[in-house]
Amino acid sequence: MKVGIVGTGMVGSAAAYALGLRGVASEVVLVDLDSALAEAHALDIAHAMPFASGTSIAHGDYDRLQDAGVVIIAAGVAQRPGETRTDLLGRNAGVFRTVVAEIMRVCPNAILLVASNPVDIMTQIAWVYSGLPAHRVIGSGTILDTARFRSLLGAHLRVSPRSIHAYVLGEHGDSQVLAWSGARVGTVPIALFGEQVSAPITEEVRAKIDSETRNAAYTIIKGKGSTYYGIGAGLARIVGAIRQDERAVFSVSSVTAFVEGVRDVALSVPRVVGRQGIATELLPELDAQERRALQQSASLLRGLFEAATL
Ligand code: ADP
Repeated sequence: MKVGIVGTGMVGSAAAYALGLRGVASEVVLVDLDSALAEAHALDIAHAMPFASGTSIAHGDYDRLQDAGVVIIAAGVAQRPGETRTDLLGRNAGVFRTVVAEIMRVCPNAILLVASNPVDIMTQIAWVYSGLPAHRVIGSGTILDTARFRSLLGAHLRVSPRSIHAYVLGEHGDSQVLAWSGARVGTVPIALFGEQVSAPITEEVRAKIDSETRNAAYTIIKGKGSTYYGIGAGLARIVGAIRQDERAVFSVSSVTAFVEGVRDVALSVPRVVGRQGIATELLPELDAQERRALQQSASLLRGLFEAATL
């Protein structure tokens, strides 16, 4: 399967590298406004392929995206000093207006995988501009927050994060909701498992895991300016599930008809992902506090979307 990446800055190039290392795509095509940058990343990543997989890495203009099965959108502009979030959103909506139109012109059958931030709003904007059904426009959402949550729980409970079923829901951002009440190790609730292995989930442990999950991106940005390897690997994982028609469950963003009383809002809940994009969504059992928090996150996102000038 050919995979396109539009926007080959830090996130787009990390996704290309992860796709190549995993050998998920037959061909990856990099497109950027800055074509020298796309070419440079394509060459550099291509030179890693003899050590990794048979994936061909190319760069080019939009026409080279023809027949792509998935196009990752990681294009965007950086926040200017003093610029409000809404103004930034307006400029990024402008970027998406052209990018999505070009993608739809060349490969109208591709699934769009949105990584640009604020990812939930950009997913909803891509959905509007593309005219595609919601299940074919996927945002990376909280896939990474969920991975962080699981790995912190796994470290505390001394269990592989892969055997932990726990999700971060809502916004990929400050209002995200860690769904503690349904978190399980295998089929055992984490509180019970914690007691069994003498690693209780105390209020203190919970607060620490919550804060580290929520603030991981800030710590990374403080140290090196931006985050990209984690999300690059997450994007490659989603593409792999689409390609193999795996129907794997990920917490990813998509325009959702109805969430806790809020209509038509893009946010993350666990979703089954396969060849056709999102096959179905899972609505986890939440306690009253989590439901309230998810409602707040959904309202906030809906408000931001409405404030964006499209
Ligand atoms: P991030 O860290 O999110 O990857 P970057 O600023 O490194 O952010 O990357 C964003 C990329 O998006 C840049 O390479 C930029 O050239 C690209 N870009 C911006 N506007 C457009 C556009 N209209 N079409 C294609 N690429 C674009």
